[in-house]
Amino acid sequence: MKALYYDGTLSIREVPEPSPAPGEALIRVLIAGICNTDLEIIRGYMGFQGILGHEFVGIVEKAANPYLLGKRVVGEINCPCGNCRFCRMEMPGHCPERSVLGISGRPGAFAEYLCLPEANLHLVPDSVSDDAASFTEPLAAAFRIIDQLSPSSEDQIIVLGDGKLAQLITQTMWLHSKHTVCLGKHDWKLSLLRDLGISTQHFGTYQGDMADVVIEATGRPEGLNHALRLIRPEGTIILKTTCHDNSSFDAARAVVNEIRIQGSRCGPFRPALEALALGTVEVHPLITEVFSLEEGLQAFERAARPETMKILLQL
Ligand SMILES: [Zn+2]
Ligand SMILES: [Zn+2]
Repeated sequence: MKALYYDGTLSIREVPEPSPAPGEALIRVLIAGICNTDLEIIRGYMGFQGILGHEFVGIVEKAANPYLLGKRVVGEINCPCGNCRFCRMEMPGHCPERSVLGISGRPGAFAEYLCLPEANLHLVPDSVSDDAASFTEPLAAAFRIIDQLSPSSEDQIIVLGDGKLAQLITQTMWLHSKHTVCLGKHDWKLSLLRDLGISTQHFGTYQGDMADVVIEATGRPEGLNHALRLIRPEGTIILKTTCHDNSSFDAARAVVNEIRIQGSRCGPFRPALEALALGTVEVHPLITEVFSLEEGLQAFERAARPETMKILLQL
């Protein structure tokens, strides 16, 4: 099969079709999305080599569970061992033995086929298009914040950043509090949110109260320091940015103002699929362009450009 492979350089390669281990399904990929994590991996993050890609929708072609056969699915990307202390504590996303689809120890979704444990799969409702379904994984990362915070409708929430993930987060937070505002630097990106009736402001000219919650999704090392200037005393900062280089931050400010800083990563697929099915989160405006797998190198070039939002690969 064809795959987009990274081993220090990106290339389209012919590789053997994967064969599922016990408990795993074989999935034929329909659409896969390029994420900032993929761009960070090709700059050295995680030290991963192999088939990239972790945001996908596909059709189950082989599975032990006959109910799954022929079904359209999305899949959670963490594959835990099931036996360790963290797995027993129901923290499979933190299993030290885990593999992660297209990120660590497991070939990813930029290929004709992939394998994942059947337990990781979720059926996609018929009302969700393939394009939209490919956003389930990053949208689930937005819903992780709801699990962590249980925001109230009175909470003043600032989302810092106007990229793909920041936009999904802003839409998700808006469902919970209309006192949500997205602060960004690109008017055309902010306008995608304004078209949905969501409040935005330019980062440089923001005039407003300090927020109860600041969600840092800039993808930039300096994002945390900006967040520290926007959060109220005893407020919570949610950190979504994983930068490939380490950044320093104003720790004294966090101490004096007794700020809670909470990391946040992968999230629950079910509410993400529900939001896509109900149309309460709108992902189509985020799609910049769709490429074929053969055009994968061009697709990555395009994804890295600042004027781009989501790039999808069609298999
Ligand atoms: Zn991702
Ligand atoms: Zn484990």
